[in-house]
Amino acid sequence: MTAQTITNDTVVGIHYTLKGEDGETIDSSAGQPPFIYLQGHGQVVPGLESALLGKNVGDKFPVEISAEDGYGDYVAEMSMTFPKSQFPEGAAFEVDNEFELVGENNEVIPARITAVEADSITLDANHPLAGKKLFFEIEIVSLRAATAEELEHGHAHGVGESHD
Ligand code: ZN
Repeated sequence: MTAQTITNDTVVGIHYTLKGEDGETIDSSAGQPPFIYLQGHGQVVPGLESALLGKNVGDKFPVEISAEDGYGDYVAEMSMTFPKSQFPEGAAFEVDNEFELVGENNEVIPARITAVEADSITLDANHPLAGKKLFFEIEIVSLRAATAEELEHGHAHGVGESHD
């Protein structure tokens, strides 16, 4: 038996195209294998997860998601300017290059360069899609029950994939 309707703890395969408010394509699975995820475990943004719940294989539909239900609001304090001298020697200062910041609890925070000045660099730790409305086109292409291991890990595994 395979599941027919997306419920929590099912493994879902989707094709998607994501566009921004300006209609430009940001990301798409076209020409690639479907994106596989485990429903109900936060593997996709909240607005998409709730839109997919209860849908069926073969369904094709648009989903519009607010920033709040997408990658969150843009937080101005997460954009910070540092003197170049604080970076490792030989660091490449180019817009969109990524660096890792270390947070108060030693957590690693990915950030990308948004501005390069003569003596300073601005790093933005917001998700690139923070503060943005998301426009998805979704097609559900596969559905199956999750394995016990997938449920334990909280994410979907590829065919025959297993890991600690
Ligand atoms: Zn796993």
